[in-house]
Amino acid sequence: MIAHDGMFIDGSWRPAAGTGTIEVLNPADEQVIGSVPGGTAEDVDAAVRAARAALPGWKATEPARRSVCLEALRDALAARQDEIAATVTAELGSPVGFARRVHAALPVTVTDSYARLAASHPFEERIGNSTVLHEAIGVVGAITPWNYPLHQIVAKVAPALAAGCTLVLKPAEDTPLTAQLFAECVAAAGVPAGVFNLVTGLGPVAGQALAEHPGVDLVSFTGSTAVGKKIGSLAGAGVKRVALELGGKSANVILPGADLAKAVAANVADVCRNTGQSCDTLSRTLVHADEYDEAVSLAAAALAKYVPGDPTDPDVRVGPLVNARQLARVRGYIAKGIEEGARLVAGGPEAPEGREKGFYVRPTLFADVTPEMTIAQEEIFGPVLSFMRYADEEEALRIANGTVYGLGGAVWATDESRAVAFARRMETGQVDINGGKYNPLAPFGGHKQSGIGREMGVHGLAEYLHTKSLQL
Ligand code: NAD
Repeated sequence: MIAHDGMFIDGSWRPAAGTGTIEVLNPADEQVIGSVPGGTAEDVDAAVRAARAALPGWKATEPARRSVCLEALRDALAARQDEIAATVTAELGSPVGFARRVHAALPVTVTDSYARLAASHPFEERIGNSTVLHEAIGVVGAITPWNYPLHQIVAKVAPALAAGCTLVLKPAEDTPLTAQLFAECVAAAGVPAGVFNLVTGLGPVAGQALAEHPGVDLVSFTGSTAVGKKIGSLAGAGVKRVALELGGKSANVILPGADLAKAVAANVADVCRNTGQSCDTLSRTLVHADEYDEAVSLAAAALAKYVPGDPTDPDVRVGPLVNARQLARVRGYIAKGIEEGARLVAGGPEAPEGREKGFYVRPTLFADVTPEMTIAQEEIFGPVLSFMRYADEEEALRIANGTVYGLGGAVWATDESRAVAFARRMETGQVDINGGKYNPLAPFGGHKQSGIGREMGVHGLAEYLHTKSLQL
């Protein structure tokens, strides 16, 4: 496993300004697997200067040429997919099968989509007597979380490069090795020096220095709503553009008569996906009172098949959580659910059998959850599913919309148009109808406190562009 002891700035690995380091742990066995430098404001400043110096050249580069660089980046990522999957499994604990299928493969698809968009997007348009230019915003400060360590990076870097922006990336401290591997791919792709720069470090140190830096034009942040609020105010103070992809508490709404077995099986698979550490996890299940008991039994039976295990085993579907803090947090929510009177159907706060070492948690199912309970309101970020009952569609809608979040969602119904009608009334950024599959070209982002802005496809590209009107 690679672990550079420097920062990737201006096209090469340079020693960090300070001497602090960050240890990277394998969450499956709590062993140290590497260490990276803890960046300071000085490193961030050097990286922003490099990005600013590279900006005029990259912005002026023909979009077709930027597209060629993105194709090369796509190929570099594709060539190292096994290594990427192994690294994500080692530092995040994501089961290796999922790491290969999603963590390593999705970034290739997304980079490819932006290679195509760079070549085909109309970067200018005519409106009456004006030519409207859609120009690169400038230098981007990208701050990313650990849960999809490579996807979250690519979701920012690929559209930024397509738009003609330059960047400084501050990845999550739990998963910096994946970020270093990505920087190697950028170098291998022949992206010009200074266009992409990487500073590893702690959020309140390197992350904050990047968000505050006057040389940054746009701060693109993915992470928790609590930190997102801080980033928003730091960016506001400098009148910077800001894009925030934050937390969620997404509802899975099963309308009466829907295929219950299918809807519940998909929901259980979803809440165990990436060990429950997905921002759009369907963590609240809403079922009509008449079908509720049957749905809970189906969920309990389905969940029993998700046994936490060694994430390097290709047959394992649930691994450990990322770190001790996350484990304490998820166990705390499970205890809170019990304390507030939810019915514990499966799982619980104890470590799974034989998994005392490592940050393992039991996949957990709660029934009789009511909307005001903490586990129905707050993001848990673990494999914990809350089943709630409703009497009619109006009540289901009130419950679905009744949190501060609005990121994902799902609706199941026998009649697709009925599901779509319900989805139209949901206050959320994306809704899967009857198991509709993820579309990497569709805009992804939140309503309410789940964020500002969109990633993916042409809407994601637009975040990195601003307009200039020439009146002729
Ligand atoms: P986090 O907010 O703790 O950290 C995210 C990033 O911000 C990290 O790189 C961290 O170092 C940095 N950071 C922390 N404090 C900072 C500060 N004061 N100034 C600047 N940067 C700072 O989140 P996390 O625990 O890494 O990730 C989990 C959260 O991310 C969950 O809430 C999840 O829902 C959210 N998330 C959202 C999306 C989305 O697309 N909406 C996607 C993935 C994850």
